[in-house]
Amino acid sequence: MVKKILLPTDFSEGARNALPYAAELAKQYNASLYLIHVIYDINQASGLHVPHVNLDQLYSEIESVAKKELERFGLEELRGMNVQREVIRGVPYEEIVKYAEKNQIDLIVIGTHGRKGLEKIFFGSTAEQVLRRAPCAVLTVRLPKKGS
Ligand code: AMP
Repeated sequence: MVKKILLPTDFSEGARNALPYAAELAKQYNASLYLIHVIYDINQASGLHVPHVNLDQLYSEIESVAKKELERFGLEELRGMNVQREVIRGVPYEEIVKYAEKNQIDLIVIGTHGRKGLEKIFFGSTAEQVLRRAPCAVLTVRLPKKGS
């Protein structure tokens, strides 16, 4: 029933907190795990074309750092499991939903919290948008309350 589980990560505490849920469910269902990270595409996100000669170089540098970070993400927790990792460029919630459609994902596990700061103000909540548009079941994972 649940054969493919997608865990999108922005490497935040919220995504790390969701990781054991995805890992445990993948074990229980004997499912494959898909880890993706989406690098914001400035052109797409703003709807403006940002001409910048070095933009491609900047993206490829960010991409190589993100790939390394993604390789490390969940290394311990996911040892011995069937895990696919991919770095994608675009608007995070759009790419997460597209990836789920394209790969026939059965379950998305996503943190309710991501990185704080300006991105959130400009782009809105990734978790909320994914929840609204996902083609499959979504498990949202909250951060534990402080002090509990
Ligand atoms: P947010 O709704 O932006 O606070 O982020 C909530 C969750 O969405 C995070 O914990 C991640 O699991 C996921 N997420 C946010 N941004 C990205 C991104 N750029 N790539 C992959 N997953 C993301």
